[in-house]
Amino acid sequence: MSQPATSGDCLHYIDGEWTDGNGSETFSSVNPATGETLATFRRGTADDVDAALEAAEDAFDEWRALSYIDRAEYLWEIYHELRERHEELGATVSKECGKEISEGKAEVTEAWHMVEWAAANARHPHGDVVPSEVASKDAYMRRKPRGVVGCITPWNFPVAVPFWQMAIALVEGNTIVWKPAEQTPWTAQIVAEMMDDAGIPKGVFNLVQGYGDAGAAIVEDARVDTVQFTGSAEVGHEIAGKVGGEPGKLAACEMGGKNGIIVTEQADLDIAVHAAVMSSFKTTGQRCVSSERLIVHEDVYDEFKERFVEIAENVAVGDPLEADTFMGPAIEAGHVEKIREHNELAVEEGAEVLVDRFELGDEEIPEGHEEGHWVGPFVYEIEYDTDLRCLKEECFGPHVALLEYSGDIDRALEIHNDTPYGLSGAIVSEDYRQLNRFRDRAEIGLAYANLPCIGAEVQLPFGGAKKSGNGYPSARESIEAVTERTAWTLNNSKEIE
Ligand code: NAD
Repeated sequence: MSQPATSGDCLHYIDGEWTDGNGSETFSSVNPATGETLATFRRGTADDVDAALEAAEDAFDEWRALSYIDRAEYLWEIYHELRERHEELGATVSKECGKEISEGKAEVTEAWHMVEWAAANARHPHGDVVPSEVASKDAYMRRKPRGVVGCITPWNFPVAVPFWQMAIALVEGNTIVWKPAEQTPWTAQIVAEMMDDAGIPKGVFNLVQGYGDAGAAIVEDARVDTVQFTGSAEVGHEIAGKVGGEPGKLAACEMGGKNGIIVTEQADLDIAVHAAVMSSFKTTGQRCVSSERLIVHEDVYDEFKERFVEIAENVAVGDPLEADTFMGPAIEAGHVEKIREHNELAVEEGAEVLVDRFELGDEEIPEGHEEGHWVGPFVYEIEYDTDLRCLKEECFGPHVALLEYSGDIDRALEIHNDTPYGLSGAIVSEDYRQLNRFRDRAEIGLAYANLPCIGAEVQLPFGGAKKSGNGYPSARESIEAVTERTAWTLNNSKEIE
C-alpha cells in the first residue's frame, strides 16, 4: 500500500503515486457541523490535470487490452475495500458533508452496489448479434472503450456518485481522471487509497484535488473523450456547451431539480406525509432528488397541511453523528446564504410562511457545534402561478412550497411539469389510473408512486429530463457514455460482391 500523507497536506494521486503536484496553494476540508478543519489538501492546477491526463492516456492501451473479467477483478477488490471500510468511510462522509450518519453509511452501501453491478456486468453479454440482409454475412454491434474519461463530482454524494461514474467506465476499459468536489477531498482521498490498495495499474485511475478551475481544465482538454459531470445546472450547462462544440467528445451531465410530489384526493395521508417529510428534509434537502413542491388536492389539503407542518416544526436538527438526528447542517456558510435568499424570494413573491426555522434557536444547536452551518425547515404556501421564480429555481435546502389544486390529475400534472427541470417526482394515490397517468405524463426521469421521491437502485437508469441532464450514470444506460459502438460486418463466403 502506498502511503498517502498522514500529516501535512494531503496529496493528489497521479500515475500510481501520491504527489504534491505543481501548485503551491492548499485548501481545507471543514466539518460543516462544527467548523473544525479536518485536513488540508493540495489545490490542483492545470499542470496537475495535464500530468494526470498524460498518465491516463499512457495507461489506456494496456488497460483496454485486458479482458472484461480481468478488469472486473480490480473492481471486486474495491468492492471488498468498501465493505471493510464501511464504518470509517460512512463516518468520514458524515463529518465532511454533514449528512446524517445513517445516510453516510447508506451512501457507501450504494457505492458498493454500483461496483458490484459493474463488475458483475463483465460476465454479461456485450453488444448485439444483428441479422444481415445477406445470408453469408454476419453482422454485430460491438463496443469498445472511448479512452480517457474525466469525472467531475459534487459534494453531496461524495462516494456514491464517483463510483456511479467510475465503476462501469473502468470495467469497459477506459482510464480515469477524477476531480472531486472541493468540499469533500478527504472522502476522495479514502476512495483513492482504495483504488491503490486494490492494485489498480498505474495511470488507470488518477485523482486531482481542487476547485472548478481544475474541473474546467479536464473539460477543455482534447485528450478527454468523455466528461461525466454531476452537479449544479449552472456548471453542467456550461460544460455541455463547451463539449457540444467538439465533435467526437461526449458530455454526460446530471444536474439538479425542482422536484414535486402530487398528493391526490385519493391519497393515503400517512403515506403522503411520510413521503413529503423524507423528500423535503432528509439530508437537509441537499439531494438532487429532494422535493421543494408539494401539490395537494383541495379535498385533503387542510389535513395534509396540518400534519406536515406539525412534523416540520419538530424534526430534529443536530449533530449528524448522533443516531436520532433527522437533519444535519448545510454544507457551508455560502450555502446558508443561498437558502436564505430562496426563502426571502418566496416571501417577496407572496408566500404565506407556515414554518420558519431557518435561524435555529440557540437551544436547538448542539453544544460545541456553535460554528456549524445550521438551518431548519422553511415551509410556505402560495397560490400557483407560472411566473413565480420560487417555484422554478432549485434551492437545495429544507425549503418547500405547499400548493393547493382543484380539479383532476391533469391539473396537478400541469403544475408539476411547470418547471425547467425534470429529475424526480412522486405521486401519492390509491387510484391506479392516477398513478399511470402520472407515470406517462410527468416530465421527469425518476418517478415514484406511494414513496418518497428520493432513493435509487443501481440497476435502474438514474437520470433526468429537460434541464436536469442527459446522462444516466447507472444501469445499462451508463455504458453508452463510456463506449463507442462498432457495426461489424463479416463476409463468410469467398464470393466478391
Ligand atoms: P457544483 O456544480 O458547484 O460542483 C460540482 C463539481 O463541479 C465540483 O467538483 C466543482 O468543483 C466542479 N466545477 C465547478 N465549476 C466548474 C467548471 N466551471 N468546470 C468544471 N467543473 C467545475 O455542484 P455542487 O454544489 O457540488 O453540488 C450540488 C448540485 O449537484 C445540486 O444542484 C444538485 O442538485 C446536483 N446534484 C445532482 C445529482 C444528480 O444525479 N442529478 C446528484 C447530486 C447532486
